[in-house]
Amino acid sequence: MLEYAEPVTRLIDELKRLPSIGHKSAQRLAFYIMRAPEADLERLIAALREVKEKIVLCSICNNLTEINPCRFCASPSRDHSVICVVEEPHSLVAVEKTRSFKGVYHVLHGSLSPIRHIGPSELQLENLLPRLKPENNDGVVVREVILATNPTTEGEATANYISRLLKPLGLRVTRIAMGMPVGSDLEYVDEVTMDKALANRHEI
Ligand SMILES: [Zn+2]
Repeated sequence: MLEYAEPVTRLIDELKRLPSIGHKSAQRLAFYIMRAPEADLERLIAALREVKEKIVLCSICNNLTEINPCRFCASPSRDHSVICVVEEPHSLVAVEKTRSFKGVYHVLHGSLSPIRHIGPSELQLENLLPRLKPENNDGVVVREVILATNPTTEGEATANYISRLLKPLGLRVTRIAMGMPVGSDLEYVDEVTMDKALANRHEI
């Protein structure tokens, strides 16, 4: 990239390291940053610093939080006998938006992927088993673990792996149902989704 001055190239290179940012997006962001008013940039820099300084992983569930334990783990009004396992903090937000889940969470920060060399030790898994013991859970017996990893090959592999870990413990291990997106047309749904939707059909 000889066409840009060295600092610009460096900025583009750094932006390219961000997830889902390819070369073109990195260039677009770099030009936006260069043209942005100083005050906007100061706010962006402050926000980046603040998130690094103040946000930690919850020691119980690995959720991103300003206070440890996080507000879900610390809440007496949540059902601490049901744990919903999700891949990422934004998956937690998606479940939380339904307002129908009253249990607590466990955030893995990833999914198993042999292609990307992500094995079980790369996931935030080591604190899952200990918290299933009542003595580590304020005396509450965990009765169900819901595996809400993504409906992808990696998500399925992760759910299967965790299910094998948990089954010998005798608690209920469930997987979220996969099926048709609401408001969709059968014609446009891929065959894996259609297959899952048929397999997970229920009486009406
Ligand atoms: Zn937590």
